[in-house]
Amino acid sequence: MQGKVVAITGASRGIGAAAARVFAQAGARVALLARSGDDIGRIAAKIGPQALALRCDVADAASLGAALDQAVRWGGRLDVLVNNAGVIDPIARLAEAEAADWGRAIDINLKGVFHGMRAAIPVMKAQGAGTIITVSSGAAHTPLEGWGAYCSAKAGAAMLTRIAHLEEGAWGLRVMGLSPGTVATDMQVRIKASGVNPVSQLDPAVHIPADWPARALLWMCSPDADGWLGQEISLRDAGIRARVGLV
Ligand code: NDP
Repeated sequence: MQGKVVAITGASRGIGAAAARVFAQAGARVALLARSGDDIGRIAAKIGPQALALRCDVADAASLGAALDQAVRWGGRLDVLVNNAGVIDPIARLAEAEAADWGRAIDINLKGVFHGMRAAIPVMKAQGAGTIITVSSGAAHTPLEGWGAYCSAKAGAAMLTRIAHLEEGAWGLRVMGLSPGTVATDMQVRIKASGVNPVSQLDPAVHIPADWPARALLWMCSPDADGWLGQEISLRDAGIRARVGLV
């Protein structure tokens, strides 16, 4: 990753913050994007001059586009975009969900991924190379009670990965999804507190540390992962864990 420029959305905590540290340790220059300016500022300052904090809302195309523009001006290029920002709320059955809350989850979890791809692909195409990884979920493929907005958005985002590969793979854009399994982050704390559906009943001890998907994201930027272009990689897969070097 030496000399590479990586933008990570949702880098203020959890998987995104862990990924920022892992990519920076590997030598990349890292742009951390999230709404919580203080948090990304603190994390970027700790990483050092090879990190930049850019406050933005992925649900807003102009906000994310401007942040990615700034990242490109800062780094001179954009080699990797990690579409990681996401929210679990609203946790509500279809018959009870508020339309505005439901729409907001789609704006962040699905449209946010489109906004990132829309801004990054032209930059990467002009460079002749680039990698876009979207953090997916088992919920993209399995219905879960109370998670109608989250499951629908993640299913749509998984399709965006396939579409981006179809449209841009021929010239060399590398596009993939990562389904991390359950990860010990604030999102799982919120899920546990809801008491809704079997995921909330899981013993927190089964969740993997955020460092694991972060290391998987780094591995996905290497040619060793090229066999999965256009597809999703699941960190539940023991073969993948071994390949990434996770034990
Ligand atoms: P966290 O809740 O810990 O972090 C979510 C991140 O997304 C925060 O940095 C938050 O920053 C950011 N974010 C949320 N909304 C926006 C927005 N509108 N604009 C910009 N950034 C935003 O969750 P995780 O780290 O667990 O989740 C990261 C990704 O992994 C998500 O896509 C999630 O769906 C996925 N995932 C997580 C699993 C888990 O078990 N934890 C399992 C499967 C998938 P801020 O609030 O500062 O904007």
